[in-house]
Amino acid sequence: MLENINESRTPISDLGEFGLIDHLTQSLSTHHPETLKGIGDDAAVLKFPDDQVQVITTDLLVEGVHFDLAYMPLKHLGYKAVMVNLSDVCAMNAQPKQVTVSVALSNRFTVEAIDELYDGIKLACKKYQVDLIGGDTTSSTSGMVISITAIGMSHPDKVVYRNGAQLNDLLVVTGDVGAAYLGLQVLEREKQVFSVNPKAQPDLEPYHYLVERQLKPEARTDIIKLLAELGVLPTSMIDISDGLSSEILHLTKASEVGCSVYEDKLPLDPQVINTCEELNLDSTTIALSGGEDYELLFTINQNDFDRIKGNPNLTVIGHINAPQDGVHLITRAQTQIPIIARGWNPLKSNAED
Ligand code: ADP
Ligand code: MG
Repeated sequence: MLENINESRTPISDLGEFGLIDHLTQSLSTHHPETLKGIGDDAAVLKFPDDQVQVITTDLLVEGVHFDLAYMPLKHLGYKAVMVNLSDVCAMNAQPKQVTVSVALSNRFTVEAIDELYDGIKLACKKYQVDLIGGDTTSSTSGMVISITAIGMSHPDKVVYRNGAQLNDLLVVTGDVGAAYLGLQVLEREKQVFSVNPKAQPDLEPYHYLVERQLKPEARTDIIKLLAELGVLPTSMIDISDGLSSEILHLTKASEVGCSVYEDKLPLDPQVINTCEELNLDSTTIALSGGEDYELLFTINQNDFDRIKGNPNLTVIGHINAPQDGVHLITRAQTQIPIIARGWNPLKSNAED
């Protein structure tokens, strides 16, 4: 995980708004020739090759709604806030190039705290080679709000939408699913224990992968490169932010198709299986309903199967049917259960479509 401990406490008012912006952005450099002007003027200036298209996506994260600083260190929050956006760029089959970062801060945050947030943001930008080209900084009466916008580049014929899935296409998921949600359960449990006994020392080692997936998700830019290398252009694609079942429903609805998903094909990490047993949870439900995995879900033509076959990053979990066949899970017992959205939805307390 990302370590960052800072003891001193400088109020933001010591620097002022402009001092803070300078402090946060002074050491930034850019990586891409497309970034003609980054931070420092009224607006950034970008120039892309004529034969390319840009994809643009934005996300807003509100303290208490999308994140809880009781168990989410600020450095992780900064890193994750960038990842969420890069993942959306990947889901269009584009390579992320630039981000802007806007923050609203209450006076409870110190300069050191914001430095930690920006350490995470800068680490993400460095690791994923994206340019931080601007943003805005303002105050908030309560808590922290972060808004990130990401810009990516693709070719007009290579952009992949949600609505392109065709009859008989294969449904593919990257990596594994369910771990990030379980990581959150583990962290919430530790928070409860800590509130009762502040001296309790949590042993998170058996849940290391789960906690890492919750606190430090990675955007699958590697898959965008891999698909290009394999010569596979998905027919439709979406990233898994809310949960596999809800993303399957978005994709099938947009494409006006049905689909069958096979329970025994769902890719689960051994820690997910073990922790589900320990917590008495059904691993299939967690795989389908747990959110925040930031993996990619896409469809490919059956003719492309040989190109992806055997790749450990890619798992075929089902296939596309006619719309009247509906969207189903085929269980290990060969029964058919309709898939409903139980993904995480901040606007509905009991999210269920
Ligand atoms: P303006 O008054 O035009 O909004 P600002 O003084 O807010 O300009 O910003 C000055 C420069 O710093 C701009 O390039 C802006 O994009 C950048 N900037 C402001 N806040 C942030 C931030 N939180 N992160 C990164 N860049 C920022
Ligand atoms: Mg401004």
